[in-house]
Amino acid sequence: MKRVVLIGAGHAHAQVLKDWITDRPAGAELWVVSPHALAPYSGMVPGWLAGYYRYEDICIDFAALAAAAGAHWVRDELVELDPEQRRLTLASRRVLDYDLLSLNVGSTLRPPPSTPAPLLALRPLGELHLRWVPTLATLSRIAAVRPVTITAIGGGAAGFEALLAVRHRILQIQPRSTVHVTLVSAGVDLLPGLAPGAIEYGRRTLASLDATVELGKRYDDAQRADSDLLLWATGAEAHDWQRASGLAVSEPGWIRIDRRLCSISHPEVYATGDCAAWAQPLPKAGVFAVRMGPVLSRNLQAAVSGQTPAAYTPQRRVLSLLATGNRRAIASWGPWSAEGAWVWRWKDRIDRRFLKRFERPPFAAP
Ligand SMILES: Cc1cc2nc3c(=O)[nH]c(=O)nc-3n(C[C@H](O)[C@H](O)[C@H](O)COP(=O)(O)OP(=O)(O)OC[C@H]3O[C@@H](n4cnc5c(N)ncnc54)[C@H](O)[C@@H]3O)c2cc1C
Repeated sequence: MKRVVLIGAGHAHAQVLKDWITDRPAGAELWVVSPHALAPYSGMVPGWLAGYYRYEDICIDFAALAAAAGAHWVRDELVELDPEQRRLTLASRRVLDYDLLSLNVGSTLRPPPSTPAPLLALRPLGELHLRWVPTLATLSRIAAVRPVTITAIGGGAAGFEALLAVRHRILQIQPRSTVHVTLVSAGVDLLPGLAPGAIEYGRRTLASLDATVELGKRYDDAQRADSDLLLWATGAEAHDWQRASGLAVSEPGWIRIDRRLCSISHPEVYATGDCAAWAQPLPKAGVFAVRMGPVLSRNLQAAVSGQTPAAYTPQRRVLSLLATGNRRAIASWGPWSAEGAWVWRWKDRIDRRFLKRFERPPFAAP
Protein backbone atom coordinates (compact mmCIF):
# COMPACT_ATOMS: atom_id res chain seq x y z
CA MET A 1 0.00 0.00 0.00
CA LYS A 2 1.51 3.35 -1.07
CA ARG A 3 1.05 6.25 1.29
CA VAL A 4 0.31 9.55 -0.47
CA VAL A 5 0.50 12.60 1.83
CA LEU A 6 -0.92 15.99 0.83
CA ILE A 7 0.45 18.90 2.87
CA GLY A 8 -1.67 22.07 2.79
CA ALA A 9 -5.30 22.82 1.98
CA GLY A 10 -4.32 24.69 -1.18
CA HIS A 11 -6.30 25.06 -4.39
CA ALA A 12 -4.55 22.19 -6.23
CA HIS A 13 -5.17 19.74 -3.38
CA ALA A 14 -8.90 20.50 -3.47
CA GLN A 15 -8.89 19.10 -7.01
CA VAL A 16 -6.89 16.02 -5.97
CA LEU A 17 -9.42 15.23 -3.23
CA LYS A 18 -12.40 15.83 -5.53
CA ASP A 19 -10.97 13.41 -8.12
CA TRP A 20 -10.09 10.86 -5.45
CA ILE A 21 -13.79 10.70 -4.45
CA THR A 22 -14.85 9.34 -7.83
CA ASP A 23 -11.60 7.76 -9.00
CA ARG A 24 -9.64 6.29 -6.11
CA PRO A 25 -6.57 4.32 -7.25
CA ALA A 26 -6.16 0.84 -5.83
CA GLY A 27 -3.17 0.22 -3.59
CA ALA A 28 -2.91 3.74 -2.13
CA GLU A 29 -3.94 5.49 1.07
CA LEU A 30 -4.33 9.25 1.14
CA TRP A 31 -3.46 11.57 4.04
CA VAL A 32 -4.16 15.32 4.21
CA VAL A 33 -2.39 17.61 6.70
CA SER A 34 -3.33 21.26 7.19
CA PRO A 35 -3.76 23.51 10.25
CA HIS A 36 -7.35 24.55 9.42
CA ALA A 37 -10.31 22.58 8.08
CA LEU A 38 -11.70 25.62 6.26
CA ALA A 39 -9.52 26.93 3.44
CA PRO A 40 -10.50 30.39 2.17
CA TYR A 41 -10.63 30.92 -1.59
CA SER A 42 -8.37 33.94 -2.16
CA GLY A 43 -10.47 35.41 -4.99
CA MET A 44 -13.35 35.94 -2.53
CA VAL A 45 -11.29 37.25 0.41
CA PRO A 46 -11.71 40.95 -0.55
CA GLY A 47 -15.49 40.43 -0.89
CA TRP A 48 -15.55 38.81 2.56
CA LEU A 49 -13.51 41.69 4.07
CA ALA A 50 -16.02 44.10 2.46
CA GLY A 51 -18.87 42.24 4.17
CA TYR A 52 -20.48 40.70 1.06
CA TYR A 53 -19.84 37.09 2.02
CA ARG A 54 -19.81 35.09 5.27
CA TYR A 55 -16.52 33.35 6.04
CA GLU A 56 -18.01 29.87 5.57
CA ASP A 57 -19.26 30.94 2.13
CA ILE A 58 -15.74 31.66 0.82
CA CYS A 59 -14.13 28.47 2.12
CA ILE A 60 -13.57 24.94 0.93
CA ASP A 61 -14.26 22.48 3.74
CA PHE A 62 -11.19 20.25 3.52
CA ALA A 63 -12.13 18.00 6.42
CA ALA A 64 -15.41 17.20 4.62
CA LEU A 65 -13.68 16.73 1.25
CA ALA A 66 -11.10 14.44 2.86
CA ALA A 67 -13.84 12.39 4.52
CA ALA A 68 -15.70 12.03 1.19
CA ALA A 69 -12.44 10.95 -0.47
CA GLY A 70 -11.82 8.34 2.25
CA ALA A 71 -8.59 10.19 3.19
CA HIS A 72 -7.09 10.55 6.66
CA TRP A 73 -7.54 14.17 7.77
CA VAL A 74 -4.84 15.50 10.14
CA ARG A 75 -5.28 18.97 11.57
CA ASP A 76 -1.62 19.84 12.03
CA GLU A 77 1.25 21.67 10.40
CA LEU A 78 4.43 20.43 8.75
CA VAL A 79 7.50 21.88 10.50
CA GLU A 80 10.28 19.65 9.19
CA LEU A 81 10.74 17.64 6.01
CA ASP A 82 13.43 15.01 5.52
CA PRO A 83 13.18 13.95 1.86
CA GLU A 84 16.04 11.45 2.19
CA GLN A 85 14.17 9.46 4.86
CA ARG A 86 10.78 10.39 3.33
CA ARG A 87 9.75 11.61 6.77
CA LEU A 88 7.57 14.51 7.94
CA THR A 89 7.58 16.05 11.41
CA LEU A 90 4.43 17.92 12.34
CA ALA A 91 4.01 20.77 14.86
CA SER A 92 2.50 18.28 17.36
CA ARG A 93 5.81 16.31 16.99
CA ARG A 94 3.90 13.50 15.29
CA VAL A 95 6.03 11.83 12.61
CA LEU A 96 4.57 10.66 9.31
CA ASP A 97 6.36 8.68 6.60
CA TYR A 98 5.35 8.84 2.95
CA ASP A 99 5.89 7.19 -0.42
CA LEU A 100 4.59 10.17 -2.38
CA LEU A 101 4.40 13.69 -0.99
CA SER A 102 2.56 16.71 -2.40
CA LEU A 103 3.18 20.24 -1.09
CA ASN A 104 0.54 22.91 -1.77
CA VAL A 105 1.29 25.16 1.19
CA GLY A 106 0.98 28.64 -0.32
CA SER A 107 3.26 31.42 0.83
CA THR A 108 3.73 33.68 3.82
CA LEU A 109 4.73 37.25 4.76
CA ARG A 110 7.34 38.54 7.17
CA PRO A 111 6.05 41.82 8.58
CA PRO A 112 8.15 43.60 11.23
CA PRO A 113 7.81 41.94 14.67
CA SER A 114 6.40 45.11 16.19
CA THR A 115 4.78 48.16 14.63
CA PRO A 116 3.48 51.42 16.11
CA ALA A 117 -0.01 50.67 14.79
CA PRO A 118 -2.04 47.42 14.82
CA LEU A 119 -1.05 45.21 11.92
CA LEU A 120 -3.12 42.78 9.84
CA ALA A 121 -0.98 40.56 7.59
CA LEU A 122 -2.91 39.25 4.57
CA ARG A 123 -1.03 35.94 4.52
CA PRO A 124 -1.28 33.18 5.57
CA LEU A 125 -4.89 33.37 4.35
CA GLY A 126 -6.06 30.59 6.68
CA GLU A 127 -5.23 32.72 9.74
CA LEU A 128 -6.72 35.98 8.48
CA HIS A 129 -10.23 35.51 9.88
CA LEU A 130 -8.90 34.94 13.42
CA ARG A 131 -7.41 38.44 13.40
CA TRP A 132 -9.95 40.23 11.19
CA VAL A 133 -12.95 39.76 13.50
CA PRO A 134 -11.39 41.55 16.55
CA THR A 135 -9.69 44.11 14.28
CA LEU A 136 -13.01 45.07 12.70
CA ALA A 137 -14.63 45.41 16.13
CA THR A 138 -11.88 47.82 17.22
CA LEU A 139 -12.03 49.86 14.00
CA SER A 140 -15.81 50.14 14.27
CA ARG A 141 -15.52 51.48 17.84
CA ILE A 142 -12.93 54.05 16.72
CA ALA A 143 -15.02 55.06 13.69
CA ALA A 144 -17.94 55.87 16.00
CA VAL A 145 -15.96 58.67 17.67
CA ARG A 146 -13.34 59.92 15.19
CA PRO A 147 -12.00 59.48 11.64
CA VAL A 148 -10.14 56.21 10.96
CA THR A 149 -6.85 55.95 9.03
CA ILE A 150 -6.00 52.72 7.19
CA THR A 151 -2.63 52.19 5.50
CA ALA A 152 -1.91 49.35 3.06
CA ILE A 153 1.73 48.36 2.69
CA GLY A 154 2.09 46.85 -0.79
CA GLY A 155 0.95 48.14 -4.17
CA GLY A 156 -0.17 44.83 -5.72
CA ALA A 157 -3.69 43.48 -6.11
CA ALA A 158 -3.94 42.16 -2.53
CA GLY A 159 -3.05 45.48 -0.83
CA PHE A 160 -5.24 47.48 -3.23
CA GLU A 161 -8.30 45.24 -2.86
CA ALA A 162 -7.96 44.80 0.89
CA LEU A 163 -7.61 48.55 1.47
CA LEU A 164 -10.79 49.32 -0.47
CA ALA A 165 -12.65 46.42 1.13
CA VAL A 166 -11.76 47.44 4.70
CA ARG A 167 -12.75 51.04 4.00
CA HIS A 168 -16.08 49.87 2.60
CA ARG A 169 -16.77 47.61 5.61
CA ILE A 170 -16.11 50.35 8.16
CA LEU A 171 -18.42 52.74 6.31
CA GLN A 172 -21.07 50.04 6.14
CA ILE A 173 -20.99 49.71 9.94
CA GLN A 174 -20.50 53.42 10.71
CA PRO A 175 -22.02 55.26 7.69
CA ARG A 176 -21.33 58.71 9.17
CA SER A 177 -17.66 58.12 9.85
CA THR A 178 -14.68 59.23 7.77
CA VAL A 179 -12.05 56.74 6.60
CA HIS A 180 -8.70 58.03 5.32
CA VAL A 181 -6.82 55.54 3.16
CA THR A 182 -3.13 55.44 2.23
CA LEU A 183 -1.30 52.97 -0.01
CA VAL A 184 2.47 52.71 0.38
CA SER A 185 4.64 50.59 -1.90
CA ALA A 186 8.38 50.10 -2.27
CA GLY A 187 7.71 49.42 -5.96
CA VAL A 188 7.36 52.34 -8.30
CA ASP A 189 4.26 50.91 -10.05
CA LEU A 190 0.75 50.55 -8.79
CA LEU A 191 -0.78 47.11 -9.60
CA PRO A 192 2.28 45.80 -11.47
CA GLY A 193 1.55 43.28 -14.21
CA LEU A 194 -1.96 44.50 -15.00
CA ALA A 195 -3.07 46.08 -18.29
CA PRO A 196 -2.34 49.83 -18.51
CA GLY A 197 -6.09 50.55 -18.62
CA ALA A 198 -6.68 48.49 -15.46
CA ILE A 199 -3.91 50.38 -13.66
CA GLU A 200 -5.56 53.64 -14.71
CA TYR A 201 -8.92 52.43 -13.33
CA GLY A 202 -7.11 51.61 -10.10
CA ARG A 203 -5.55 55.05 -9.92
CA ARG A 204 -8.91 56.74 -10.57
CA THR A 205 -10.62 54.64 -7.92
CA LEU A 206 -8.04 55.66 -5.32
CA ALA A 207 -8.18 59.31 -6.44
CA SER A 208 -11.99 59.35 -6.12
CA LEU A 209 -11.55 58.41 -2.44
CA ASP A 210 -8.87 61.08 -1.85
CA ALA A 211 -6.44 58.26 -1.07
CA THR A 212 -2.79 59.06 -0.48
CA VAL A 213 -0.61 56.92 -2.76
CA GLU A 214 3.12 56.75 -1.99
CA LEU A 215 5.03 54.68 -4.56
CA GLY A 216 8.75 53.93 -4.46
CA LYS A 217 8.68 54.33 -0.70
CA ARG A 218 9.69 51.74 1.91
CA TYR A 219 7.61 51.20 5.02
CA ASP A 220 8.82 53.39 7.85
CA ASP A 221 7.57 52.94 11.45
CA ALA A 222 7.73 56.60 12.36
CA GLN A 223 5.65 57.79 9.44
CA ARG A 224 2.87 55.26 10.01
CA ALA A 225 2.36 55.77 13.74
CA ASP A 226 -0.91 57.64 13.20
CA SER A 227 -2.57 54.72 11.34
CA ASP A 228 -5.32 52.77 13.05
CA LEU A 229 -4.48 49.72 10.94
CA LEU A 230 -1.56 48.61 8.79
CA LEU A 231 -2.66 46.12 6.14
CA TRP A 232 0.50 44.16 5.37
CA ALA A 233 0.41 42.96 1.74
CA THR A 234 4.00 42.93 0.52
CA GLY A 235 5.13 40.20 -1.93
CA ALA A 236 4.69 36.51 -1.17
CA GLU A 237 7.60 34.81 0.68
CA ALA A 238 8.53 31.13 1.01
CA HIS A 239 8.11 29.18 4.27
CA ASP A 240 11.47 28.75 6.10
CA TRP A 241 11.28 24.94 6.26
CA GLN A 242 11.29 24.72 2.46
CA ARG A 243 14.91 25.90 2.26
CA ALA A 244 15.94 23.83 5.31
CA SER A 245 14.47 20.62 3.79
CA GLY A 246 17.28 19.95 1.32
CA LEU A 247 14.87 19.97 -1.64
CA ALA A 248 16.19 21.97 -4.60
CA VAL A 249 14.84 25.51 -4.16
CA SER A 250 15.14 28.76 -6.08
CA GLU A 251 16.94 31.73 -4.58
CA PRO A 252 13.86 33.00 -2.68
CA GLY A 253 13.22 29.46 -1.34
CA TRP A 254 10.46 28.20 -3.72
CA ILE A 255 10.58 24.44 -4.49
CA ARG A 256 11.89 23.90 -8.01
CA ILE A 257 9.62 21.68 -10.09
CA ASP A 258 9.60 20.19 -13.58
CA ARG A 259 6.75 19.81 -16.10
CA ARG A 260 5.32 16.88 -14.13
CA LEU A 261 5.06 19.22 -11.10
CA CYS A 262 7.59 17.18 -9.13
CA SER A 263 10.73 18.38 -7.41
CA ILE A 264 13.77 18.43 -9.70
CA SER A 265 15.82 16.91 -6.86
CA HIS A 266 13.30 14.45 -5.35
CA PRO A 267 10.77 13.18 -7.94
CA GLU A 268 8.53 11.58 -5.31
CA VAL A 269 7.83 15.08 -3.94
CA TYR A 270 5.33 17.25 -5.84
CA ALA A 271 4.86 21.00 -5.33
CA THR A 272 2.16 23.28 -6.73
CA GLY A 273 0.83 26.83 -6.38
CA ASP A 274 2.68 29.61 -4.61
CA CYS A 275 5.25 27.31 -2.92
CA ALA A 276 6.60 26.02 -6.26
CA ALA A 277 9.18 27.54 -8.63
CA TRP A 278 8.49 26.95 -12.32
CA ALA A 279 11.42 27.26 -14.76
CA GLN A 280 10.37 30.86 -15.52
CA PRO A 281 8.97 32.63 -12.45
CA LEU A 282 5.14 32.67 -12.45
CA PRO A 283 3.11 35.32 -10.62
CA LYS A 284 2.04 34.20 -7.14
CA ALA A 285 -1.64 33.99 -8.04
CA GLY A 286 -4.26 31.40 -7.11
CA VAL A 287 -5.14 30.79 -10.75
CA PHE A 288 -1.86 28.93 -11.27
CA ALA A 289 -2.54 26.64 -8.31
CA VAL A 290 -6.04 26.02 -9.66
CA ARG A 291 -4.77 25.12 -13.15
CA MET A 292 -2.02 22.88 -11.74
CA GLY A 293 -4.68 20.93 -9.79
CA PRO A 294 -5.89 18.55 -12.55
CA VAL A 295 -2.30 17.81 -13.68
CA LEU A 296 -1.19 17.13 -10.11
CA SER A 297 -4.21 14.90 -9.53
CA ARG A 298 -3.53 12.87 -12.65
CA ASN A 299 0.19 12.58 -11.89
CA LEU A 300 -0.31 11.39 -8.32
CA GLN A 301 -2.69 8.71 -9.64
CA ALA A 302 -0.18 7.85 -12.41
CA ALA A 303 2.64 7.54 -9.88
CA VAL A 304 0.53 5.13 -7.81
CA SER A 305 -0.55 2.99 -10.73
CA GLY A 306 2.55 3.22 -12.93
CA GLN A 307 0.90 5.19 -15.77
CA THR A 308 2.44 7.96 -17.89
CA PRO A 309 2.37 11.37 -16.18
CA ALA A 310 0.90 14.49 -17.80
CA ALA A 311 2.82 17.71 -18.44
CA TYR A 312 1.75 21.10 -17.11
CA THR A 313 1.89 24.19 -19.34
CA PRO A 314 1.22 27.53 -17.67
CA GLN A 315 -1.32 29.82 -19.35
CA ARG A 316 0.27 32.83 -21.03
CA ARG A 317 -2.37 35.32 -19.94
CA VAL A 318 -4.17 35.53 -16.64
CA LEU A 319 -7.59 37.09 -16.12
CA SER A 320 -7.34 39.32 -13.03
CA LEU A 321 -10.56 40.58 -11.45
CA LEU A 322 -10.03 43.12 -8.66
CA ALA A 323 -12.88 44.03 -6.32
CA THR A 324 -13.00 47.73 -5.49
CA GLY A 325 -15.17 47.35 -2.39
CA ASN A 326 -18.40 48.85 -3.75
CA ARG A 327 -19.81 45.92 -5.74
CA ARG A 328 -17.73 47.06 -8.68
CA ALA A 329 -14.54 45.49 -10.00
CA ILE A 330 -11.68 46.00 -12.44
CA ALA A 331 -10.83 43.37 -15.09
CA SER A 332 -7.43 42.89 -16.72
CA TRP A 333 -6.52 40.28 -19.36
CA GLY A 334 -3.44 40.81 -21.49
CA PRO A 335 -3.75 44.39 -22.79
CA TRP A 336 -7.56 44.42 -22.30
CA SER A 337 -9.25 46.05 -19.30
CA ALA A 338 -12.73 47.01 -18.08
CA GLU A 339 -14.38 48.38 -14.95
CA GLY A 340 -17.89 48.44 -13.58
CA ALA A 341 -20.66 46.81 -11.59
CA TRP A 342 -21.00 44.16 -14.32
CA VAL A 343 -17.34 43.15 -13.78
CA TRP A 344 -18.13 42.54 -10.09
CA ARG A 345 -21.16 40.41 -11.02
CA TRP A 346 -19.00 38.47 -13.48
CA LYS A 347 -16.31 37.95 -10.84
CA ASP A 348 -18.91 36.89 -8.26
CA ARG A 349 -20.36 34.31 -10.68
CA ILE A 350 -16.91 32.86 -11.51
CA ASP A 351 -15.88 32.66 -7.86
CA ARG A 352 -19.14 31.07 -6.68
CA ARG A 353 -19.00 28.55 -9.52
CA PHE A 354 -15.45 27.59 -8.54
CA LEU A 355 -16.41 26.99 -4.90
CA LYS A 356 -19.52 25.04 -5.85
CA ARG A 357 -17.27 22.40 -7.42
CA PHE A 358 -16.08 21.50 -3.94
CA GLU A 359 -19.39 21.58 -2.09
CA ARG A 360 -20.33 18.44 -0.27
CA PRO A 361 -23.73 17.33 -1.64
CA PRO A 362 -22.60 15.99 -5.05
CA PHE A 363 -19.71 14.17 -3.41
CA ALA A 364 -21.27 11.70 -1.01
CA ALA A 365 -18.67 9.04 -0.26
CA PRO A 366 -19.15 6.03 -2.55
C1 LIG B 1 -6.12 39.40 -0.15
C2 LIG B 1 -5.67 38.50 -1.27
C3 LIG B 1 -6.41 38.43 -2.44
C4 LIG B 1 -6.00 37.63 -3.49
N1 LIG B 1 -6.77 37.57 -4.61
C5 LIG B 1 -6.40 36.77 -5.63
C6 LIG B 1 -7.22 36.67 -6.80
O1 LIG B 1 -8.26 37.33 -6.92
N2 LIG B 1 -6.80 35.85 -7.79
C7 LIG B 1 -5.65 35.13 -7.70
O2 LIG B 1 -5.32 34.39 -8.63
N3 LIG B 1 -4.84 35.20 -6.61
C8 LIG B 1 -5.19 36.01 -5.57
N4 LIG B 1 -4.37 36.10 -4.47
C9 LIG B 1 -3.15 35.28 -4.40
C10 LIG B 1 -3.53 33.90 -3.85
O3 LIG B 1 -3.98 34.05 -2.53
C11 LIG B 1 -2.42 32.89 -3.80
O4 LIG B 1 -1.66 32.93 -4.97
C12 LIG B 1 -3.08 31.50 -3.66
O5 LIG B 1 -3.82 31.42 -2.46
C13 LIG B 1 -2.04 30.42 -3.67
O6 LIG B 1 -2.72 29.21 -3.65
P1 LIG B 1 -2.05 27.89 -3.11
O7 LIG B 1 -2.97 26.79 -3.49
O8 LIG B 1 -0.64 27.83 -3.55
O9 LIG B 1 -2.00 28.07 -1.52
P2 LIG B 1 -3.05 28.60 -0.47
O10 LIG B 1 -4.39 28.82 -1.06
O11 LIG B 1 -2.41 29.75 0.22
O12 LIG B 1 -3.16 27.38 0.52
C14 LIG B 1 -2.08 26.94 1.29
C15 LIG B 1 -2.56 25.98 2.32
O13 LIG B 1 -1.47 25.35 2.97
C16 LIG B 1 -1.65 25.38 4.38
N5 LIG B 1 -0.31 25.34 4.98
C17 LIG B 1 0.62 26.32 4.96
N6 LIG B 1 1.74 25.91 5.61
C18 LIG B 1 1.52 24.64 6.00
C19 LIG B 1 2.29 23.67 6.70
N7 LIG B 1 3.53 23.94 7.13
N8 LIG B 1 1.73 22.45 6.97
C20 LIG B 1 0.47 22.17 6.54
N9 LIG B 1 -0.31 23.04 5.87
C21 LIG B 1 0.21 24.26 5.60
C22 LIG B 1 -2.42 26.65 4.62
O14 LIG B 1 -3.08 26.63 5.87
C23 LIG B 1 -3.38 26.61 3.44
O15 LIG B 1 -4.46 25.77 3.73
C24 LIG B 1 -4.77 36.90 -3.39
C25 LIG B 1 -4.00 36.99 -2.22
C26 LIG B 1 -4.44 37.77 -1.17
C27 LIG B 1 -3.58 37.86 0.08
